[in-house]
Amino acid sequence: MTAASIYPSIWLAEFGEFAEWQNYREIAAGAHPVLAEIDDRLIHSRRPFQVNGYCSLCGSVQPLSVRWDYAGTDGNGTIFPAWTEIAACGCCGSNSRMRALFSYLTEKLAVAADAEIYIAEQVTEYYRRLKARYPNLVGSEYLGTDLAPGETVHREAEFIRHEDITRLSFQSGRFDLIITQDVFEHVPDYRSAFSECRRVLKSGGHLLFTVPFFYHQPDTEIRAAVSASGEIEHLLPPEYHGNPLGGGALCFQHFGWDLLGSLKQAGFSEATAALYWGPHQGHFGQYFFVFSAKA
Ligand SMILES: [Zn+2]
Repeated sequence: MTAASIYPSIWLAEFGEFAEWQNYREIAAGAHPVLAEIDDRLIHSRRPFQVNGYCSLCGSVQPLSVRWDYAGTDGNGTIFPAWTEIAACGCCGSNSRMRALFSYLTEKLAVAADAEIYIAEQVTEYYRRLKARYPNLVGSEYLGTDLAPGETVHREAEFIRHEDITRLSFQSGRFDLIITQDVFEHVPDYRSAFSECRRVLKSGGHLLFTVPFFYHQPDTEIRAAVSASGEIEHLLPPEYHGNPLGGGALCFQHFGWDLLGSLKQAGFSEATAALYWGPHQGHFGQYFFVFSAKA
């Protein structure tokens, strides 16, 4: 028995296509108000507050800070926290989606300590925590178009590796696991990124990621594109997200369920969306997913 195993699993279901999700929504319609009511009991206050929960990264119960950044409202004026981005661990700083992804890799994929892993981030606390647990981890940041893939730059007493996820410097079949967290929505040619991840994965390896996901959409909505001459064309009002290196990153698409088909077209044999929720581990709100594709 491990500390994690005494809490209920956060994994409610796993889906391979939109039709499976629609079927689940029908069957689970009665459960939705129960989950929503548990969330509601927490958010009677509009001030930031703390709730204790088990942090998968820390491996212990920690105070999780709930703030109102990025909150949304419905037609009745009810405010909904952006649950994936908040409930951050007071010790390691990981938010709900980061902890969910870590649960998936340790509990569902049971990744070995000596696994070869690539993560598309390096200047983050998450990278440092992962590196301590998985020594064969390679991290990188996207540092712009002036650098060659694999090149390192010295910045703030750290060597930062540059990689472009659509043309990675790694040899084919190198990694057991690739992790990205809210990256693909910022990559205009995300299909090339999927193919490139498949190329550098070993057969049987996994691509594990989060993206903002629009579960009511069967199809991905393209918000911006890059023209042949390299100009950005806005098809919808531009949307920018925070970036750990500073500045805002343009969101090129809002992913829908055809994301899973795009992964298969890129050469993955399986692609699934895993639905999570669990108050013991500080995962609230509906509906949030971790995506996994098997090479
Ligand atoms: Zn933590």
